[in-house]
Amino acid sequence: MNLQQTNTSLFKRLRFVLVETSRSGNIGSVARAMKTMGFSDLVLVNPRFANMPQQDEAIAFASGAQDILAAAREVGSIEDALEGCNFAAAISARLREFSPPIVSPRNLANQLAEDCSLHAALVFGNERFGLPNGIVEKCNVLINIPANPIYSSLNLAQAAQVLAYECRVAAIGDGVSDTSIGFHGAAAGIAEIEGMYVHLEQALKAIGFLNPEQPKKLMSRLKRLFSRTQLEAEEVNILRGIAKKNSRPVAAARLYALFIYCTWYF
Ligand code: SAH
Repeated sequence: MNLQQTNTSLFKRLRFVLVETSRSGNIGSVARAMKTMGFSDLVLVNPRFANMPQQDEAIAFASGAQDILAAAREVGSIEDALEGCNFAAAISARLREFSPPIVSPRNLANQLAEDCSLHAALVFGNERFGLPNGIVEKCNVLINIPANPIYSSLNLAQAAQVLAYECRVAAIGDGVSDTSIGFHGAAAGIAEIEGMYVHLEQALKAIGFLNPEQPKKLMSRLKRLFSRTQLEAEEVNILRGIAKKNSRPVAAARLYALFIYCTWYF
């Protein structure tokens, strides 16, 4: 099941607001940043030119996110952009003397994901001048992306990408555990694993690696090794197959010797 379908709330509750954007390519890139992270509500406050979302550069930079561009709404004021929202975050590269509380992108994302009553807007500034103080002061928090202190101004769409990513992860997690490696098959049962150890032990004896007189801790060490790997049923079958192949010629040789002995004896 698609994770997004199980927890749609933040994806429906979060709006991206771009104030006085001057490059249509940036609008396209923001649309792409939003769509890659599952967001879709884009509002433009007084973009520098008319019809910027329809310009070639915007469409090219949006790549497969043209639906977000096409649905973007243009408004004439920040008040109109925030209509229906009860929380606004000013996203700014600059800290100011008078500003709402400064919150990190991650803490903001967690707050927005946890509190389903929040209908929030992330408000981004213009490429050259950032956000005017008047807009920052209307917002509940100021979000500063912790960046290189001597060069901390990200491209507008890259800043949007960072925020969109944090919000996605806060809403639904990152979908991968640190130990997961690609596709996972069914986990092997305990009995299957025990059977594999029996096969393995037989094979190791058969090839002369395990001396039954002096087994030392070989099997215990191998068991500990495998216990760290979360064996899958398919993998256990492969290992048992290998063990069988190794012991088969020896087993056949033994059977043959027994046969010779029996025919000679009787
Ligand atoms: N020269 C402008 C920066 C404009 S970058 C200034 O001094 O504010 C365009 C927009 O990207 C910013 O208005 C802000 O919304 C976002 N942005 C860029 N870098 C950021 C950072 N380090 N932290 C938060 N937002 C950032």
